[in-house]
Amino acid sequence: MEEVLSTERETGRGIGGAQPSALAEAPGSKLKRLSVSQLKAYENCPRQWYLRYIRNLPTPPSPDGFVGQMVHHALRDFMLLPPGQRKPEYLHERLREHWRNDHKGRKGFADPGHEASFGRRAMDLLDNFYAGSDLGVVPKEVEKFLDWSWPFPVPAGDGSGNGGGGGGSGLIMAGKIDRIDERPDGTVEIVDYKTGHVPPSDEYARRDLQVGLYWSMVQEVLGYRVASFKLLGLAEYRELAVELSPEDVQSHLHRAADVVARIRTDVNPQPRVSALCPWCGYLADCPEREAAEGFTKDKSLAELPF
Ligand code: SF4
Repeated sequence: MEEVLSTERETGRGIGGAQPSALAEAPGSKLKRLSVSQLKAYENCPRQWYLRYIRNLPTPPSPDGFVGQMVHHALRDFMLLPPGQRKPEYLHERLREHWRNDHKGRKGFADPGHEASFGRRAMDLLDNFYAGSDLGVVPKEVEKFLDWSWPFPVPAGDGSGNGGGGGGSGLIMAGKIDRIDERPDGTVEIVDYKTGHVPPSDEYARRDLQVGLYWSMVQEVLGYRVASFKLLGLAEYRELAVELSPEDVQSHLHRAADVVARIRTDVNPQPRVSALCPWCGYLADCPEREAAEGFTKDKSLAELPF
């Protein structure tokens, strides 16, 4: 993600492609609930965040997103079984069941052949998990939803800095943890399944805002002592475990507090073109579409092999 962010640039245009025209009030100023995903979305592109989380504008169903969701559901069901009952057929069964029942998500496929290719890919991801991961683990938590009362000062939308802090702000930070495993010494490891991009090294992962925030939330909300955060890449089965120092965690919290402050006070959320644009559901109407389309999903496809 950091690699991607390094290529982004702020544009000079606002919502709808016109020159900046500030709204009377920051659209995020009244939000009482934010999620870790929302913070990441704002960091990636304030305009995309605004359209998705404030305007609630629907985006075309994404086959990649659908595969990610279905694989997560199947893995949740699978890891809730006692280790002796975890068979590969069960993973496939659960995937098919969730897939079959999600009529809305299935609308993202062009035709049955298109859907079949994504279905096979999802099964491959599950097979990679089965072949590569420790199937004897009995997780301490599976798909855990967390609400954390944000303990830092929150500015008001008028930029006065008087939005309150601690319990007074009333702001909730929400997150969802895929899995938490207990280690022999009583500490825990957070496990995050990745069906798409995995950071190229633990140094990149250590700088991921999600890693730092989930680390803090598990400690503060659940009271567990977190010792490690494992990203589990399913495409080519790869485990990336990172350990954060107290200074790392503090640095993430400062960064998160800064993003919260920007969300609460930004009266004109701007497009930010980056390598993430090809996956954006609002690309078709983006005022920066031409620049955004300069990034292809797969750089290797930019060159013709003939
Ligand atoms: S296409 Fe890119 S710049 Fe435009 S809204 Fe989406 S992420 Fe932002």
